[in-house]
Amino acid sequence: MPVHELLSTAAPELEYHLEDKPMRLLVVEDEKKVAAFLRKGLEQEAYTVEVAGNGKRALELALSEPYDLIILDLLLPGLDGISVLRELRRQHVSAPVLILTARKEVDDRVSGLDAGADDYLVKPFAFAELLARVRALLRRQGSDRSAILQIADLTVDPVTHRVTRGEREIELTPREYAVLDYLLRNAGRVMTRTLIAEHVWDYHFDSDTNLIDVYVKRLREKLEAGGEKRLLHTVRGIGYVMREDGR
Ligand code: CA
Repeated sequence: MPVHELLSTAAPELEYHLEDKPMRLLVVEDEKKVAAFLRKGLEQEAYTVEVAGNGKRALELALSEPYDLIILDLLLPGLDGISVLRELRRQHVSAPVLILTARKEVDDRVSGLDAGADDYLVKPFAFAELLARVRALLRRQGSDRSAILQIADLTVDPVTHRVTRGEREIELTPREYAVLDYLLRNAGRVMTRTLIAEHVWDYHFDSDTNLIDVYVKRLREKLEAGGEKRLLHTVRGIGYVMREDGR
């Protein structure tokens, strides 16, 4: 069981059950058996579920109706999941997206997360695991974290996601932004790869923390592209820390 589940109290989940309006979920999955299994399981948890059997239908639904969360299979006939996701984000659909992938390569997960997914699950998965991710994403969406973050000449606006160093504006992918946001909120504290993985993706990466290294490396390159002083430091064998000096 992921650590965040062991640590979380029952209260945040209870809030959702106390709300009048059921959470609306869109499941995009072409395999009928998997779609039916997801629909049944999620409806039993009191979510309202709609299923789209292909990418085109997914876009029609997601662009015309509000959903609280989208579960998106990457391998779809015709328009694939990544294209669907890119189009949704391009059209400013901000619902959290959990991608499902049968492929285990880091590249596929990275491209999905880069395209704007909030989390991913590799098939085959246990339904309990899917449910934990769904709850975590819905919970995360509800929290207010809008104060401007700053260290040295680096400024991050959590509302607009605008990131600057001095006058220089920095373009980040959604996941790079999430890593930066987390490290900055914990500036001065060394964060392990596991902690970063849990907080940015809300679960354990098993031992596959090199995905975190990929994100941190790219994030650091962008933060220093103007020749600025290093703020994101590697603490060898432990993790990463955001701070002004190089200690
Ligand atoms: Ca599929």
